[in-house]
Amino acid sequence: MTSLMRQAGSTPMFERRQDVIIIGGGLQGCAIALFLARAGRSVGVIERTVAGRHASGVNAGGLRLLLRDHREYPIAVRAMEIWSGLEEFVGRAGAKASEVRLRTSQIAIAMDSNEMSWAEDRARDMGRRGILNERLLDGREVRRLLPGISSRVLGGLISEPDGHANPANAARAFRMAAAAAGAHIEEGCRVQGLERTGSGLWRVETDRGTAEAEIVINCAGAWGAGVARLVDETLSLEAMALSMMVTSRVEHFVTPVVIGIDRPLSFKQSAAGSLVIGGGIAGKPCLDEATSFTIMDRMVSSAAATIDAFPCLSDVPVLRTWTGLEGVTPDGIPYIGPSVRHPGLWHVFGFCGHGFQLSPAVGEIVATSILSGERDARLLPFSVDRFKAGQPVRGGGDDAAA
Ligand SMILES: Cc1cc2nc3c(=O)[nH]c(=O)nc-3n(C[C@H](O)[C@H](O)[C@H](O)COP(=O)(O)OP(=O)(O)OC[C@H]3O[C@@H](n4cnc5c(N)ncnc54)[C@H](O)[C@@H]3O)c2cc1C
Repeated sequence: MTSLMRQAGSTPMFERRQDVIIIGGGLQGCAIALFLARAGRSVGVIERTVAGRHASGVNAGGLRLLLRDHREYPIAVRAMEIWSGLEEFVGRAGAKASEVRLRTSQIAIAMDSNEMSWAEDRARDMGRRGILNERLLDGREVRRLLPGISSRVLGGLISEPDGHANPANAARAFRMAAAAAGAHIEEGCRVQGLERTGSGLWRVETDRGTAEAEIVINCAGAWGAGVARLVDETLSLEAMALSMMVTSRVEHFVTPVVIGIDRPLSFKQSAAGSLVIGGGIAGKPCLDEATSFTIMDRMVSSAAATIDAFPCLSDVPVLRTWTGLEGVTPDGIPYIGPSVRHPGLWHVFGFCGHGFQLSPAVGEIVATSILSGERDARLLPFSVDRFKAGQPVRGGGDDAAA
């Protein structure tokens, strides 16, 4: 093992060459690091800010199979198994802090006939594919499960295994578990360059020195396409600032997470009583400054969709709003796979607003693929070369909710 080259006066980076360097310390990066480190590989995670600072720590915490793109199902189902036994992966304290609540259901509500016929088609399509966790509901059942909902509701879809967790604490739990397994997590360190050395290793240049590894994994989230460009690889990605708001506390009235089918609606009631409202509302992304802003006029449309479905909430004040940066691909599912141009480089980013739920299984499946040298078949729909001339090689995503 060779020593690291260090810039004079800078904080030391990794003590030695790593088997794998992961760029980005969000949930995907930390989950992959955890599984690789547990398998005995030396792993360094380089994180520009603080691990979990971006999408991974500020998301809505939804653990959802409901309305998921069928191509994601095999990974999403494995992810649910991991979430339900999280203690085995992140230890007792991390699992407790992550506040995983499964089998509280997620329900997509149909407020008009177009949404209802879409739900009926979707139920038939899922049935044909053998995906049986989604069940069609009529209006009476929705009103029973969601007291307070408008009498206009026509029905919907329910996925009973679904639920939610605490995203900031889960991101921290994955980071701590990866570090406890031996991964070296270097925070406040930005990757600026990437090149292959004559000996076939990757040299990773950062603002705090240089590190080397046999394999590099790009888990840079909304910045993933920028990292790919460091090695002249072009992957289509749009940065989105997904927005959230939280209200004051109201008496407990709803247990399932409620999402819209064709409207900006997604909310759950926290244990404290406040409503955490999302729905894919776009704010203003500022990638270079690594920040984003809510756009109040758009937040109003999300609040209006919530009140339209639940008129009883019309007097509940919104206390604060926030945004998180996420990468969105042209077909609504992430890039998870090896680079087609550069051996030893993987891309794992662009989770399009639904990567929290997938993350532990992504960690396990990517790590296993790298360790065995054979790509797991569940990753094939996510290959980085699935677009030709900007068009998806396979059908577009069918995921309606954020
Ligand atoms: C508001 C919001 C709500 C959401 N709700 C849900 C939900 O309910 N359910 C669900 O399943 N998903 C949800 N998501 C999506 C989910 O949060 C993301 O898909 C997931 O967190 C992506 O993880 P990541 O590790 O790819 O990205 P990130 O968490 O963004 O991590 C990428 C990291 O890479 C680092 N980085 C970037 N460039 C560099 C560089 N050059 N050098 C070093 N480090 C770098 C960044 O600092 C960042 O920390 C939501 C997202 C948002 C924003």
